[in-house]
Amino acid sequence: MSASSSRFSSAALAPNSVIGIVGGGQLGRMSAVAAAKLGFRAHILTQDANGPAAQVAHQVTLGAYDDHQALEAFARAVDVVTFEFENISADALDCLAQYCPVRPSGAILRISQDRLSEKTFLSEADIPLAPWMAVTDHASLHAAADKLGFPFILKTTRNGYDGKGQARVYEASQLEDAFASLAPHPLVAEGMVDFACEISVMVVRGTDGTTRCFAPGLNSHRDGILDVTLAPAPVPEETAERAQALAVAIAEKLDLIGILGVEMFIDSTGNLLVNEIAPRPHNSGHWTMDACPTDQFDMHIRAVAGLPLPPTLRHSDAVMKNLVGPDDMALWPEVLATPGHIPHLYGKAAARVGRKMGHVNILFPYGSLPGALGIQDALGPLAEKPDTENDDA
Ligand code: AMP
Repeated sequence: MSASSSRFSSAALAPNSVIGIVGGGQLGRMSAVAAAKLGFRAHILTQDANGPAAQVAHQVTLGAYDDHQALEAFARAVDVVTFEFENISADALDCLAQYCPVRPSGAILRISQDRLSEKTFLSEADIPLAPWMAVTDHASLHAAADKLGFPFILKTTRNGYDGKGQARVYEASQLEDAFASLAPHPLVAEGMVDFACEISVMVVRGTDGTTRCFAPGLNSHRDGILDVTLAPAPVPEETAERAQALAVAIAEKLDLIGILGVEMFIDSTGNLLVNEIAPRPHNSGHWTMDACPTDQFDMHIRAVAGLPLPPTLRHSDAVMKNLVGPDDMALWPEVLATPGHIPHLYGKAAARVGRKMGHVNILFPYGSLPGALGIQDALGPLAEKPDTENDDA
């Protein structure tokens, strides 16, 4: 249902209204804090009474995301619902939508949850993508290899994140094994992009149709997990503007209310190709928390609550560094002692390998993001370590 045709009012929520957030992780935590800053109360639906979001929320409903009784009780207790992760069912959002507005809508979640529907939607909207094909069986697998050439990438359509659920296929002899190694089918085959870098744009759209975009960030990954975002992405101004225009076009086509992260590849010739969209606050937008007067979480809550969206001013350039797992957490005392490191910790009990525990923002005067060496210097204890594992000396 479109924003304009919703049977719920799109009027701004009054102070002390209740924002329901489905999901109890760090994105919910930071959204709840943003809600509190605007005088709202956050009510979290989660299964984890001690999770990151529950720790800072006004109220918590404990329940499974497919428990219709819990969903109904939750929806009746809030004025609007949003979500902070994508592995809930869109059916659950439809259930919630009987009682209050759900922003972004379940229809948008449905598109973003499935690579095939995402690519179909984006292709129909004339958004540039890497060449792709649906792979449903052996015939379409071989047709994809013919069309895309080697190497290409096979990806699962659902629940693939942080580089999981994909296989690179370099030659015909690997086709069947790659197909069998990924489940469930159907899969998506994607042409290998001659990849220069990955950027992402956070775009927000309000109930009145106003759209706002933050500057693109440049993302780099470690072990398939976002490691560092540089903002603004050091790309030509024209590329940054094109990236923002694509993000706005997607938000408008989706009839978005709330925030959306748009991940894009830049290929070696400067082309932009959209990789994924995520209708929620995004790790690659965390730099806005310290570099912008109104950050991605403030914007998201404003949009969800029907408040006006101010321009996305940026007073500083920024580097965001994730703190992942026990190795990064071992550096926490040093991070705290490093001048200029702005720490954000998510309140997770155990620092398991690969788990996002927090992040650090480092600010630079507007327009003076340093080069690679300067960034490593600023990262201090969090700088990349030279590989000394095999060094017996
Ligand atoms: P994804 O799970 O789609 O976000 O992909 C994870 C990572 O794999 C991306 O950040 C890229 O580094 C790489 N990747 C994914 N798709 C492609 C592609 N079509 N061409 C080149 N690299 C890709």
